[in-house]
Amino acid sequence: MDIDLSPGELEFRREFRAWLEQNIPRDWKPGELRGMGHSDSLELRRDFERSMGRDGWLGVAWPVEYGGRGATLMEQVIYQEELARAQAPGLAGHVGLQMVGPILMEVGTPAQRERFLPPILRGEEIWYQGFSEPNAGSDLAGLQTRAFLDGDEWVVTGQKVWGGLAEFADWGAVLVRTDPEVPKHKGISFMVIDMKSPGIKVGYIREMSGAANMNEVFFDQVRVPRDSVIGAVNDGWNAATRLLTWERGVITLSILVHYEMFWERLRDYANATKRGGRRLSEIPHLREGLARTYTNVRMMKTANLRWLAHYLRGKRPAEETSYMKLYWSQAHQSLGDLALELGGVDALEMPGSDVAIHGGEFAVEWMQSRATTLLGGTQDIQRNIIAERIFGLPRGQ
Ligand SMILES: Cc1cc2nc3c(=O)[nH]c(=O)nc-3n(C[C@H](O)[C@H](O)[C@H](O)COP(=O)(O)OP(=O)(O)OC[C@H]3O[C@@H](n4cnc5c(N)ncnc54)[C@H](O)[C@@H]3O)c2cc1C
Repeated sequence: MDIDLSPGELEFRREFRAWLEQNIPRDWKPGELRGMGHSDSLELRRDFERSMGRDGWLGVAWPVEYGGRGATLMEQVIYQEELARAQAPGLAGHVGLQMVGPILMEVGTPAQRERFLPPILRGEEIWYQGFSEPNAGSDLAGLQTRAFLDGDEWVVTGQKVWGGLAEFADWGAVLVRTDPEVPKHKGISFMVIDMKSPGIKVGYIREMSGAANMNEVFFDQVRVPRDSVIGAVNDGWNAATRLLTWERGVITLSILVHYEMFWERLRDYANATKRGGRRLSEIPHLREGLARTYTNVRMMKTANLRWLAHYLRGKRPAEETSYMKLYWSQAHQSLGDLALELGGVDALEMPGSDVAIHGGEFAVEWMQSRATTLLGGTQDIQRNIIAERIFGLPRGQ
């Protein structure tokens, strides 16, 4: 496996690192509630994103003909690493940049590309991802939000749950059932919906952090122009599975750097903090916890590099992204648990508290690690995919 960087790749890293040093807003606090779906400090994040768009640092992976940089896969990895290393604000436009944009380039019409791609790339319009429903999470193909044609418009009625920034989003990338008569995977379409349309109501889900950044969205006879389906009508399942493969796989390459850095902060905390006269890093079970979490993160890195080498040789991400999702969520939970063990009750203090550790980072990280095993498909679902599609075992009952 050869992952030495070429002179061009080293230059790409240097250029982007220098840009980030100059442009990350001074009043951005990296320890704050992190996450692309969070509405905290949204204005600051959107300003930052627009400056990235202005200087050509959004959609680096997009082909040059669509306004991107046509970055190689290795450059994309470097880009993600540098964002993580600089603890840059999470991109509010990530659904548009990393999911909707690539699908539009693949199956969108020329008019759809012309309308939607440029504002995504300028950081001007943000997207909401409306896939899951109260009775369609793991069994996403069972979704019931219905769309039927009335003249030149679709009429959409149903409920979506999860997904962030619905209130602020300009557009929704929403899965709807357009044919209820055929087998469930075959009657789904991938539709663009103007999130300011009459008939859309946004609700909030309160998380254990106390914040309410995740949404439920109700569609009540929302009228959508007929040409809003991306790809063929009733072929939305294909687009959805491609998006989920991305979400489970390639995204982990950026998360990895974040975990490595978090582990280092846990180690430094353990070395600098005493309990009962001993440094935390000298207490056997905490010392063991540091070793265990280090091993988990290293395993995740080794596995990711192995797959990265395949992708660099031209293979497209597929079922193996389920392994990546498993490593990613397990590594995250072990780090979150260790943060609690090291910090004790103070580790549960949220940002804003006087005694919060690292500005509340330990608490936030632990809470977010609970969600990691669910979002993008649960652990059980990843194991089913591995068992059935990689090992060829029979379907579970
Ligand atoms: C923080 C967060 C962010 C999210 N972001 C988004 C988003 O942006 N857009 C979006 O559309 N959705 C989003 N989701 C939804 C997420 O994809 C679903 O929560 C997830 O797929 C699980 O679905 P569910 O919650 O309905 O649980 P269920 O599917 O009801 O699962 C309940 C339990 O049963 C298990 N289970 C279910 N089916 C099987 C099976 N066949 N075999 C074995 N075990 C099974 C599951 O593993 C789980 O433990 C988000 C969720 C979270 C928590």
